[in-house]
Amino acid sequence: MSIIDVPVEDVENFRNELASIDRDGSRKWIYARQPKGTLYTARTIIATILLTFFFAGPHIYVNGHPFMLLNLPERMFIVFGIPFMPQDFHLIVVLALSSLLSVALFTAIAGRIWCGFMCPQTIFLEMIFRRIEWFIEGSPKEQAILNASPWTKKKIVKKSFKHAIFFGLSFAIAHTFLAYIIGRDELLKIQLDDQMNHLAGLGMIIVFSFVFYAVFSRFREQACLIACPYGRYQSVLVDKHTIAVTYDFLRGEPRGKQHHRKSDVQSNQGDCIDCHQCVVVCPTGIDIRNGIQLECVNCTACIDACNIVMKKINKPKGLIRYTSWEAVKNGTAKVFTARVKAYLAVWVILITILGYMFSKRTETETLILRQSGTTFIKQGNDAIGNLFNVMITNKTFGDKDIEIKILSPKNASMKLLGSFTPVKEFATLQSRILISIPKNSAVSGKTIIQFGMYSNGKILETVQSAFIAP
Ligand code: SF4
Ligand code: SF4
Repeated sequence: MSIIDVPVEDVENFRNELASIDRDGSRKWIYARQPKGTLYTARTIIATILLTFFFAGPHIYVNGHPFMLLNLPERMFIVFGIPFMPQDFHLIVVLALSSLLSVALFTAIAGRIWCGFMCPQTIFLEMIFRRIEWFIEGSPKEQAILNASPWTKKKIVKKSFKHAIFFGLSFAIAHTFLAYIIGRDELLKIQLDDQMNHLAGLGMIIVFSFVFYAVFSRFREQACLIACPYGRYQSVLVDKHTIAVTYDFLRGEPRGKQHHRKSDVQSNQGDCIDCHQCVVVCPTGIDIRNGIQLECVNCTACIDACNIVMKKINKPKGLIRYTSWEAVKNGTAKVFTARVKAYLAVWVILITILGYMFSKRTETETLILRQSGTTFIKQGNDAIGNLFNVMITNKTFGDKDIEIKILSPKNASMKLLGSFTPVKEFATLQSRILISIPKNSAVSGKTIIQFGMYSNGKILETVQSAFIAP
């Protein structure tokens, strides 16, 4: 019976359960066969580039500074060589919102391409760990036999060898991961210094190593199916117009074994010969012929597998391909749906705001506030004074000599009550100033004072504060 002949409730039954979880709740181990084909080669190339960048990332330094650093404990971030500090929080919020919307927009158009081609979980699992497993334990069938067999010497050697490599790799990934957080040099200190001085760092490496080892040796596709929030959002992000790995049911059905066919004309069968090659390569254990499913990570392994089958039986490739359900059903592909247009409009607004904020981003961030608990000081009979606290944060690489000037009002004068130079890189300097305005020209109430922050004659930013007069 083909999928279009069975009652809808039976067809949809597969959506009620995960392919990798048994009805009693126990795990069904997925033994996926290694794919081969054009898309698998493309994924291998992309994975190689990304893995090279991941492992090399913490070691890339530009002008003595890391190219990438996400130092949460010290709230210091360097992204593609640009330093960010907590003072850039507003930028990071808009950047995070833009990234989230970019993902939503991209997913609405092209599904989970990210999962199949770029997600670290898929890359590590499919391109490294599973390949090692195939190399040591053999094909899926050999792996299943090995797992079911008693603990012979051969099994112990194979399993020990595999798990030793898995843990070694997890250890290396944990080191790299930590290097992105604390920096290469701090990591080196942990490795070379007395370990007792770095118990926290050492603890993180060990915890990360065991987490990665558990994920890649046991948890595997469950991370995509159960833990990944992006996977959970698929059902609201994709629709029938979304381009995804899709089975062409009009061309493929009614399916039937090749040896049952006399000729296509006589048998009236579709192109699917029900060989299950698309199923045995699937790392999440599903049958894409059932339609788009939550478990599909768009790895394209089934496309490659089916294309090989189609070539063998002299049929055109693409029975499973990147297309939308609507394109298969009605032959109409519509990318710019109302939903995509709405996402795109908000995305353009956010990107414009982000671009504007980046263009206005200053090298320093200064806060000038009247000293708390004070209003004004009478300076004899001639002038009124206000005391201000000044906080200057240097957001650049390298120390900065800062000069503070009053831009307006012109009749205000300033006395520095502390040093302003240099402001160390990524540091905040605090100082005080006394602003005076001649009594006869001081406006009662609040007067806005505009300051200019200069370095080497170049204005870095303008800052305002309120001057109070009786
Ligand atoms: S690989 Fe292609 S022909 Fe074989 S079962 Fe899957 S869809 Fe049908
Ligand atoms: S159905 Fe195809 S694309 Fe989706 S996860 Fe399985 S093999 Fe990959």
